[in-house]
Amino acid sequence: MKTHPIGIIGSGLGGLAAACTLAARGHRVIVFEKNPWLGGKAAQLDRAGFRFDMGPTILTLPSVLRRIFAEADRRLEDYLELVRLDPQWRSFFQDGSVLDLWQNVSAMSDELKKFSAQPGTAEGYARFIELSERLDRISNKFFFYKSVGGLGDMFNLSNSFSVATLSDVLAMRMHRTVASTIRSFVPDARVSQMLDHFTQYVGSSPYASPAVLCGIAHMQTNEGVWYPLGGTRAVPLALARLARELGVEFRLNTSIERILADGGQVRGVVTGKGETVPLAALVSNSDSVRTHKELLGGEPAERAFLNRRKYEAACSGVVLYLGLDRRYEHLAHHNFVFSRDPHEEFDFIYNRGEPAPDPTCYLAAPAQTEAGVAPAGGDALYVLVHTPYLRPHHDWRQMLPAYRKTILEKLKTTGGMKDIESRIVCEDVLTPQDINDRYRVLNGAIYGLASHGKLLGAFKPANHSPDVRGLYLAGGSAHPGPGMPMVMMSGWIAADRLDRDGVTEPGGKAPNHTAPETANELAAAA
Ligand SMILES: Cc1cc2nc3c(=O)[nH]c(=O)nc-3n(C[C@H](O)[C@H](O)[C@H](O)COP(=O)(O)OP(=O)(O)OC[C@H]3O[C@@H](n4cnc5c(N)ncnc54)[C@H](O)[C@@H]3O)c2cc1C
Repeated sequence: MKTHPIGIIGSGLGGLAAACTLAARGHRVIVFEKNPWLGGKAAQLDRAGFRFDMGPTILTLPSVLRRIFAEADRRLEDYLELVRLDPQWRSFFQDGSVLDLWQNVSAMSDELKKFSAQPGTAEGYARFIELSERLDRISNKFFFYKSVGGLGDMFNLSNSFSVATLSDVLAMRMHRTVASTIRSFVPDARVSQMLDHFTQYVGSSPYASPAVLCGIAHMQTNEGVWYPLGGTRAVPLALARLARELGVEFRLNTSIERILADGGQVRGVVTGKGETVPLAALVSNSDSVRTHKELLGGEPAERAFLNRRKYEAACSGVVLYLGLDRRYEHLAHHNFVFSRDPHEEFDFIYNRGEPAPDPTCYLAAPAQTEAGVAPAGGDALYVLVHTPYLRPHHDWRQMLPAYRKTILEKLKTTGGMKDIESRIVCEDVLTPQDINDRYRVLNGAIYGLASHGKLLGAFKPANHSPDVRGLYLAGGSAHPGPGMPMVMMSGWIAADRLDRDGVTEPGGKAPNHTAPETANELAAAA
């Protein structure tokens, strides 16, 4: 008997990764996407000869992508051309100083010896990366590539809590935050401000995020920062190509309004057009909180999910897409123009819930890596400033003009781009309200759920639902969290767990157990 297909709600990178993995393992898959494009936030804007990535721009951990392609016995290189970026970022500080972040740790320590007069900064950085490496190893061992919803799932507390595990738990410094850990290693305030910004990859405050997130630094020194030729948009296009080759069906412009889950078992979905589609199982790549509140509203699963913990949205952001008639030679591909005071900045964004008066601006200037993003001599400058998630009184149509001015002022002063306003030949913008409406996320959050809380901040809802049989979660608001590599890992975990749970009968090939087992093995093979 032919079983019903597996449904996926949403074609973000998490949804696409799940689709490819399930299809590679022989399942019949339908992806439902409310928008007319695939890839969710990894969208693209073409305007007057300029091409902008609209969402993610910094690609790390290519081993995650490699693993998904390996599921189907394919090579990532046949689908995507990646260029290594080193320096990884260029940082501009309020006092006029400039610092490059190099992938090689000893090259970076040498750079810091020249940069900082404060004794111990270079050595402190090297020791910080050693800690980061250990935390990354712990994440690989206990946290990555499996469905984890809390400490119990992570350490299997009931039967295998060994001395080695205890030592790993202690290394996680559960009593400390990212900011306090960084400052215990690195005395130079500018360097610690730069290192704080790894937590911006997960849209959370370094002053409230658990020290284990310091592991992100090592992920970047280990595997590097990459630019996909064609822009980040090339990533969802590569995954969509693979998915189509594996027989995945895509239904664009198809919103899912209801999950049918009577008796605590997924039965199907109802689309915005009123069609009922019977399904054997479902991966929701839609925000996990909205999945439960809106698509399962009124079911016991909604209450169980909402009672499990408090869910706080990660930060949102404003993006300016500026088509320029010139390039700024002092910029690298990725740049941070830092705020004058990280305490003040993060206090505004994460505690007061208001845009920071003197924000950090992230800039991507991609023309130096791929000239075709702009007409000759120009650049497609992307400027992202993190803001609080949407509060009821935030009206970005009213707030934007003044905040645009604040951002451009910062670029003119700390960023050294004095003539920027007169060099803009085309312009567009993405506000927190746009992010909320385009991607149906929680309160405009860019990065799913915040990672706040020294003890449990790193945990997100597990990829398998404990409340509804046949329901799985993938994306930035599910384990292991946001950012391109993590959401793709999330999609892989949801698919792997679904496959192993045997909720459907695979139509063909057995799981590809020959694929390398850890991210580190894949990195080594690269
Ligand atoms: C401005 C910006 C900058 C970023 N910068 C970076 C960066 O530099 N590096 C990095 O790694 N990450 C970055 N990120 C984060 C990264 O983009 C996200 O973590 C990741 O792309 C989210 O993927 P996802 O799988 O969670 O799905 P999403 O991209 O959120 O997609 C979910 C999809 O589901 C669809 N959907 C939702 N509900 C329904 C429904 N009911 N029916 C049908 N379809 C539905 C939506 O339309 C959407 O297409 C950035 C994000 C933004 C917005």
